[in-house]
Amino acid sequence: MGASAAYHLARRNAGSILLLESAPFLGQGATGKCAGGIRHQFSTQVNIQLSTLSIQMMERFPQEMEQEIDLNLVGYLFLLSSPQQLQDFQHNVALQHSLGIQTELLDRDEIARRAPLINLDAEPAIIGGTNYHRDGLADPNSMVQGYAKQARRLGADIRTSTPVARILRQNDRIIGVETSDGQRILAGTTLLTAGPWSGSLAATANFHLPVIPLRRQIVVTRPLQIPRTMPFIIDFAQSLYFHYESGGILTGMSNQQETPGEKEEVDHDWTLIHLEKAIQRFPLLEKAQLLSQWAGLYEVTPDHQAIIGKLPLENFYTCTGFSGHGFMHGPICGQLMAEEIIDGRAHTVNIDSLRYQRFQNQTLHPEKNIV
Ligand SMILES: Cc1cc2nc3c(=O)[nH]c(=O)nc-3n(C[C@H](O)[C@H](O)[C@H](O)COP(=O)(O)OP(=O)(O)OC[C@H]3O[C@@H](n4cnc5c(N)ncnc54)[C@H](O)[C@@H]3O)c2cc1C
Repeated sequence: MGASAAYHLARRNAGSILLLESAPFLGQGATGKCAGGIRHQFSTQVNIQLSTLSIQMMERFPQEMEQEIDLNLVGYLFLLSSPQQLQDFQHNVALQHSLGIQTELLDRDEIARRAPLINLDAEPAIIGGTNYHRDGLADPNSMVQGYAKQARRLGADIRTSTPVARILRQNDRIIGVETSDGQRILAGTTLLTAGPWSGSLAATANFHLPVIPLRRQIVVTRPLQIPRTMPFIIDFAQSLYFHYESGGILTGMSNQQETPGEKEEVDHDWTLIHLEKAIQRFPLLEKAQLLSQWAGLYEVTPDHQAIIGKLPLENFYTCTGFSGHGFMHGPICGQLMAEEIIDGRAHTVNIDSLRYQRFQNQTLHPEKNIV
């Protein structure tokens, strides 16, 4: 979010732009830990629109940003296991169709044909599913590097190893930040894009931003002769997913009992539960060798929707809280932040349902298609 916003602001000559990153390298937070999935299949109009525009931007990325991002539109195959889920997804598919996204509803036989490596009988048994052929995968690190490189070329100053210790507030106004070595940097506009750390950083200005860090884990196997065309497959009931990764499989499964906190060490007990379920659903994994595993943090909001735009403190903005689907929305959200800051209001997409004010008015429209 930070790199994309810096690029889009610089592209529009927004003045002097400074991006501060605490780590020695960019993209080592949630973005570097993510699964790289990109999909249109959401339950809310705004997320479908953000995906549609972002994925178009990803298609133009190599040409416009001079950076390959390994875009692989292999589709996203959601596996469903209850009549209620089928009904919910039929509703989502109708919404997606109304927005020009031709998601298919699939019966069990068709899923068996498209995903021959999946055991549909493992509990919970799969009774149907959906697929959209323009969903798929892209490489998060390449995208961060592409945005950072072009932002720098356009004059943005990007400083790594520079943690922000606190956001400086004067009454109802944000005036800049103070770094951990005590440097005060005054700014006309402060944009908070600290991912899972956004809530705690906002608290340094005595501002409550409802974003919590929640651990999520990934395991990657050594090559198993998996075809590169295999879709991103999600067993929705179990929040269990698989996709092609360098000839092997990348798999993740969300622990619904996980508690909030900045926990980035692997929970090995959960790995065992995850792998047992993964092998039941994807039996070839029994033969797999472990290549790597890691834990990262989702930046989660109460309604699993991002918080984007101007905040109710002067000169203060945020773009965070994507609750597990922020990588794919990075391109368009950077542009929307530039519009919000320069033009006074984001206009390419109506982001009203993602504004902070929804928590004050209690008008929440939760995203249900979360993993
Ligand atoms: C395991 C896992 C799988 C995921 N899979 C997907 C997926 O398939 N598709 C998808 O779209 N999304 C996925 N996500 C979600 C996605 O990764 C995030 O929504 C997205 O990367 C958020 O981007 P961000 O820029 O807001 O946060 P980040 O990438 O975390 O960037 C925030 C940056 O702020 C820096 N920072 C923090 N505190 C400070 C400070 N005090 N001072 C200066 N810098 C600071 C951090 O070091 C970090 O680099 C996944 C996430 C995880 C953890």
